Amino acid sequence: MEKTEEKQQNNLREKLKNKKRIVVKIGSSSLQHKETGDLDYIKLEVLARELCNLKNQGKDVILVSSGAIAVGKKAINFKNFADDKPLAVKQACAAIGQAKLMMMYQKIFAEYNQLTAQILMTKNTIVDAHNRYNAHNTFSELLKLGVIPIVNENDTVATYEINVNDNDTLIGDNDTLSAIVASLVGADLLILLSDIDGLYTDDPHTNSNAKFISVVDELNDHLMSMGKSTTGSKVGTGGMNTKLNAAKIATNSGADMIIANGKDVRILHRIMDGRDYGTIFRAHKDADFNLTSFVEEMDS
Ligand code: GLU
Repeated sequence: MEKTEEKQQNNLREKLKNKKRIVVKIGSSSLQHKETGDLDYIKLEVLARELCNLKNQGKDVILVSSGAIAVGKKAINFKNFADDKPLAVKQACAAIGQAKLMMMYQKIFAEYNQLTAQILMTKNTIVDAHNRYNAHNTFSELLKLGVIPIVNENDTVATYEINVNDNDTLIGDNDTLSAIVASLVGADLLILLSDIDGLYTDDPHTNSNAKFISVVDELNDHLMSMGKSTTGSKVGTGGMNTKLNAAKIATNSGADMIIANGKDVRILHRIMDGRDYGTIFRAHKDADFNLTSFVEEMDS
């Protein structure tokens, strides 16, 4: 790396310490034990500690968490839960699992004396002006009250995310959802915790020559076309495509975005200390960026 390039990057990382409003997204695969699909309690606890610690530094924190369906299907003990299960079964799992997931979060966050709140969103939350206004007000009020909102798709009423054939009700996946939340609340940083270290020039699972990209200054067409599905994960929905889509929304809205490996969630404070983890996408606030039309045009 050239000296000036290195300096710029250090500066970008250093500036992360000053971020004020942070959205963190964690996927189902990062919350479960691979072997059993059961929740990883240690991970949940460390996640809560990390987020509360950010809160204690005076920052606003929002968590976007998947896991509703995964937790639900474990709860009703579905053996070999195939991807082709009827949609209503997945929705039932989401309804069971979302409540259980929130119960766990509330219990763990309470140990740090931290209140949390549940916000479930659909595409309509953004597309409908009245809904968007209400959602914005609720987020603002919760943050003012010092609460950590925990967000997920409302899978029981909007089903695109869990069934690709139904594309008119939903945002699509929690990567995109988290960027939409970041845009809606005017966050200055979005961190996507994934099962991959960040962005590579190719899929590192299949190409050993794939190179890691530490900083993305500008999302150009070439980068966007690189967004093949590069997470090996069978749970959750987000591949690199959805992450690059999220980066587009977040950076245009004025937030830096980081993709980092959620294997060890202590990576959160390491990132916030300005250390060189994950891929950082530099914010380029676009005054003409319109979240509503962007969401409206998604998959239509
Ligand atoms: N909303 C779904 C859930 O919580 C999963 C979404 C995703 O992983 O992107 O189960």
